[in-house]
Parts: sequence; structure tokens; C-alpha cells
Amino acid sequence: MSSAILEKSRISESPLLPVVGQDLAAPLIHGGTTRYVNLDYAASAPAVEEVAAHLAEVLPYYASVHRGAGFASQVSTSVYENARHIVADFVGARPGDTVIFTRNTTDSLNLLAGCVQSLLAGHGHADGASNEHGEVLYLDIEHHANLLPWQGLPHRSVVAGHSIEATLHRVETQLRAGNVVLLAVTGASNVTGEVLPVAELAALAHRHGARIVVDAAQLAPHRRIDLARDGIDYVAFSGHKLYAPFGAGVLVGRPDWLDAGKPHLAGGGAVKDVRLESVRWTDGPARHEAGSPNVLGAAMLAKAAQVLAALDPGQWQAHEHELRSHLVAGLEALNGVTVHELFSDSASRPGCGTIGVVNFSVEGYDAGLVAAYLSAEHGVGVRDGRFCAHPLLRRLGLASGSLRASFGVGSRREDADRLVDGVATLLRGGL
Ligand code: PLP
Repeated sequence: MSSAILEKSRISESPLLPVVGQDLAAPLIHGGTTRYVNLDYAASAPAVEEVAAHLAEVLPYYASVHRGAGFASQVSTSVYENARHIVADFVGARPGDTVIFTRNTTDSLNLLAGCVQSLLAGHGHADGASNEHGEVLYLDIEHHANLLPWQGLPHRSVVAGHSIEATLHRVETQLRAGNVVLLAVTGASNVTGEVLPVAELAALAHRHGARIVVDAAQLAPHRRIDLARDGIDYVAFSGHKLYAPFGAGVLVGRPDWLDAGKPHLAGGGAVKDVRLESVRWTDGPARHEAGSPNVLGAAMLAKAAQVLAALDPGQWQAHEHELRSHLVAGLEALNGVTVHELFSDSASRPGCGTIGVVNFSVEGYDAGLVAAYLSAEHGVGVRDGRFCAHPLLRRLGLASGSLRASFGVGSRREDADRLVDGVATLLRGGL
């Protein structure tokens, strides 16, 4: 977006949606307080107010699901099961896709890894056929949640290229060379915010007989996902990054591997019948949801999904795009600040671009020190470190860490300005 358009635009001057804690006061090290500027949405986003209001509506019906005959149990069960339908709609699921509630993205991907393990051992096909030479393929830019579960299985990894185009070539080369059963890829980098072309990756995977799982922990809070349209076999994301509370995540996807895989947890609710020495597991989501589920977490995740689905996509993206462009321009104007990006073509490639994440370093300053300074002196919260993406940070020459500012529907231009002012003060000798 050109600076002329940016100057005229007013979209990012106010939040797109009200969020809880918008006007929190943060203490300053030299006394007094200031409005807290939360630029750490990519770690956990504040709840949108509609979600908080929904929590108060649902809370009185707090009761055990599936097993109780009482009124509150019936309401609670319907809230929980309805949440599945809402999530299925939110991700454009195919008829028959399974929606499993988990604790978070990490849990969802570990669940799928357990199913893939069963598949490779010969228990994951309806006919019991094994695929003992099958492998999982992943990129080196993945969050550890989409890397470590696969390290425990036969796998191969790809170092992403300097462009998305080059990365697609590398992925295809590996798909051609190996017996890949699953391509595990992030929808958007939690380090730089760049969006991957998931539909193209899905088509590549399918062309070579593999399935694809998209780690949408970062994508889902910023972009529409459509499993059916884009050919995505599985998607995982977390409620706490989607403007809902902690404790609930989801895995959505094709039922066959999920129904044949080893149950994620062993216990009540996941069974058809139990004998003292044996069990017949059930299928569907219940197979992997043993124990009392997080009804409120699932309901709030679903409410957040509804709120995001109701946004005008153009306005949603314009809000983020403006804020990000404004922040990047402000940071890059400072001598000594470097903004890090992975791909030369993410801005120009259709369907890619960036979500509300900006990664940067301040020359001569330790990232942790800068983050602590911004918090203590300016009331600005950013993340520093290696972002659970050690292989990538090492490859980028940032093994000692960098800084990440991230934002979303509750953010405004003034938040970006506060960060830029803080870094500018530091560079003028504020420390
Ligand atoms: N994947 C990505 C891309 C992430 O950014 C994160 C969290 O930062 C995760 C997975 C893990 O999410 P959770 O901690 O909610 O399991």
C-alpha cells in the first residue's frame, strides 16, 4: 500500500473489535502508569468482548456433558456439540470431517502424530495395510509444535528457500524423492508473519500421494481457512490465539486416520465397551476426547470463530495491512533497526502476504534487554527470544534471539507508534 493511501486511510486508527483489557494500566519503572500496549497477540490474543459476554451466558449451565440427564447437562452438551458445528463451518470442513477438541495446537498435532504412527505401523488403514516406509515432511520454519511431534516418526525436512517459489520447488523435490504420507506445514510463520500458499502446497502433496496438515495457530486468527476449497486434509489451531481463553484447541480433518489411530487419551467416553482386560474404542471425536472435556473452552473458541467469521474480510485485512505497513515503515526509518522476513515474494504472491507479526532486531542491543526496556519505560509488551523456532532462528543468524511485535483486531495505529517511539528513544541513548 502506498504511503499516500496510508495517509488518507483511517481504518487502523481504532480497533476493529473491542477486546478485554484494552485500557489496562501498566506500571512504569520510574513511577506512574501508562496505557498498556499489547503487541504480543501472536503468543496469546486478548479475548474479544463478545467472547467474554458469551462466557457469562454459558457459565450458569456449567455441567458434565454427554452423560447427565439433568437440564444443565443437556444445555452444556448442546453448547459443546454446537461448538463443533461452528468450528466445522469456520474452517470450511467437508461433510464427514471430524472436529476434535484438544488443549491447544500442540496437543492437536501430537494427536495427529499418534494417528500417523498407527498408520505407519499398519493400524491406520481400514484394511490394516501398513505403510512402514512412509515419512512425514516438514519445513525448517516450523514452530516446535509442528516439528517435534514428527521427529518421533520417520521424517524428512526441507530448508525453506529465499522465496515461496523456491520453497515450493524444494518441497516438490522431497515429495518426489520420498514416500511421504504427510506434509506438515505452517499456515503463517509465527516468526515473521508471512503466509504460506496452503492451497498450492496441498495440491503438491496430493499430486505425490501425501496428505497435508496445516498448523493454523497463527493463520486462523488472521485469515479465512477453507479446508474443502483448498484441499487441506487437517488443520490445527488454539483458542487462546483466536481471541478466546486458554485451554482449548482443535484438530479438524479427514476421519479415516483419526478413527483408526490410537486414541489420544485412554479413559471414559472414548469407548464402546470395556472388559476387565480389553476395550473396544469408539470412533468419531469421542475416540480422542477421553475424560471430562473443556466445554467452556470449546464454546468460547467457537464463539470467537463466529465473531471472526462475521468480519468483512476486506476490512479485516486492510486493518492488519495498514498497521503492519505503518509499523514496518516506522521501524525501518530508524537507523539500527532491521526487520526480518523470509521470502522475497510473499508480498507479491496471490494468497500470501503477511499477518500482523513484525520481527526485528536493534543493532547493538540484546533482544531481551530491549523487550524489558520497552515494557518498563514505555508500557509496551513485545516478545523476544527464539519463538519456539530454534532451527529457523539459527539459520537466520539470530541464534541469540530477536524481537516480535504482533497485533490483531484490538490493535490501533497508536500502538505501533508507541513501539516505534520507544525504540527511537532507546537508540537516542535512553537505556
Ligand atoms: N504453531 C504456531 C505457528 C504457533 O505460533 C504456536 C504458538 O505460538 C503453536 C503452534 C503452539 O500453540 P499452542 O501453544 O497453543 O499449542
